[in-house]
Amino acid sequence: MKDYIVIGSGIIGALITRTLSKYQVSVLVIDKENDISSHQTIANSAIIHSGHDPKPGSLKARLCVEGNAMYDTLEHELAIPLLRTGAYVVAHNNFEEQMLQELHQRAKQNGVLGTYFLSGDEARKVEPRLSETITKVLSLPSTKVTFPWEVSIHAISNAIKNGAEFKRNAHVISIKKVEDHFVLHLKDGTTLESKHVINAAGVMSDLIARMIEENPEFEIKPRKGEYFVLDRKAVGLFNHVIYPLPTKAGKGVLIVPQTHGNILLGPTSYEISDREDESTSREGMKYIKEHLKALSNQIPFDMIIRNFAGVRATSTYEDFYIQESKTYKGFYHVAGIDSPGLTAAPAIAKYLVEEVIRIDLPMKPDFDPIHQPIPLFHTLCDVQKQIEIQKHPKHGHLVCKCEKVTEQDIINAIHSPTGNDTIKGIKKRARAGAGLCQGGYCESEVLKIIARETKVKPNEVNYYAKNTPILVKETKTK
Ligand SMILES: Cc1cc2nc3c(=O)[nH]c(=O)nc-3n(C[C@H](O)[C@H](O)[C@H](O)COP(=O)(O)OP(=O)(O)OC[C@H]3O[C@@H](n4cnc5c(N)ncnc54)[C@H](O)[C@@H]3O)c2cc1C
Repeated sequence: MKDYIVIGSGIIGALITRTLSKYQVSVLVIDKENDISSHQTIANSAIIHSGHDPKPGSLKARLCVEGNAMYDTLEHELAIPLLRTGAYVVAHNNFEEQMLQELHQRAKQNGVLGTYFLSGDEARKVEPRLSETITKVLSLPSTKVTFPWEVSIHAISNAIKNGAEFKRNAHVISIKKVEDHFVLHLKDGTTLESKHVINAAGVMSDLIARMIEENPEFEIKPRKGEYFVLDRKAVGLFNHVIYPLPTKAGKGVLIVPQTHGNILLGPTSYEISDREDESTSREGMKYIKEHLKALSNQIPFDMIIRNFAGVRATSTYEDFYIQESKTYKGFYHVAGIDSPGLTAAPAIAKYLVEEVIRIDLPMKPDFDPIHQPIPLFHTLCDVQKQIEIQKHPKHGHLVCKCEKVTEQDIINAIHSPTGNDTIKGIKKRARAGAGLCQGGYCESEVLKIIARETKVKPNEVNYYAKNTPILVKETKTK
């Protein structure tokens, strides 16, 4: 029996688990997938928004601004990348300039600091590729960019160091309240028991809610967002996040420099019925290209290396829904966490634990907030490289030439406490296959290393989940 089970290992579940691991309680975070953060948290714009856009007075506004500031601490504690880009919101005419003024007022009401205006020409001096039609810009210096799933993986690694546990392939299909605790029934026929449960299941959070309540106060209306990714060679073409003016559908199609040098273009925003439909479409891509014209007509579309889509957990509640269940004490919903959920995540975890659960237990005297990941070889200086290669000669074998990933980097990614044994899991941790060739050259090598390290046959190595092998059968015999 656990004190707390957290359903969902996205950024929300991951940071809640880490926050709970500060206290003298037992915590287990579970996920239906084979890896940490496989949905919204791996498919978003990666922006730590300033808080200029949410409705003043909402939880979204408060927790976005608080979360933005908390990332400065997480950067050091969890060793996560944080690119301090700042952002420009652009206007093209008198009408839009008036809307920009209103947005500025909203930003100030929300407590966003350091904002100022630039003329179109002043902005183009800093960002020369901005469209000539832009007349005015609202600058938001507190906007940053991170590497979202690394935040989750490092948060769960740190929580494990402090006594928490993680269980993957744990798909909750029903929940029962029995006496003073909850019994979670999993798809594989097993059960888990806990005194308290936290529903952090992203686009599935209303389905989890309906497992214990007839009429939850929120329903998820999933909204898809599609993107293009430009190769790392595009680094420096844009140095700020570039936003159009927001609309009811969201923050619009953006230009977003990424922590590893790539540039993201997108997203679209439209409601879908299948909440796990993460496919991309020709129409979506056309829409992005069309809308980017208002931001810049100098985007090198020949540098696109891939596209992807994520599904937002937008809810009918129209704000983050962070509340104890109306039916059962000890069951908490952290639901409807669409944008700016990545930004707000550290503040959401703190708010839940301190203001909703109001945990009244002693902290662990030996809680260690620091996570020290094994650095990737290419990030080391020459002296450190010499030392590491003596200890681990497999750093001498470069597997992914695009992202400079060595065989030892891949071994480390497999065997770390939150390691993974799938091709996609290695890409998430070591970036093998994330570069220009998208794994065309290194994927077969990564597969062989996973097979050897986990002692399975090559055709038993999965792409991302159970039963997703890449190789079907042997075609040649000796
Ligand atoms: C296109 C797009 C762009 C965005 N851009 C930004 C941005 O730039 N900045 C920003 O701040 N926010 C952004 N967001 C929002 C942000 O990504 C999300 O708010 C955040 O990732 C939510 O995390 P989560 O943990 O709630 O959900 P998820 O990451 O989806 O995690 C939920 C987890 O629950 C698991 N789960 C579901 N059902 C079950 C079950 N029955 N049993 C066990 N496990 C289950 C899932 O497998 C999943 O891993 C964007 C979102 C999208 C989709």
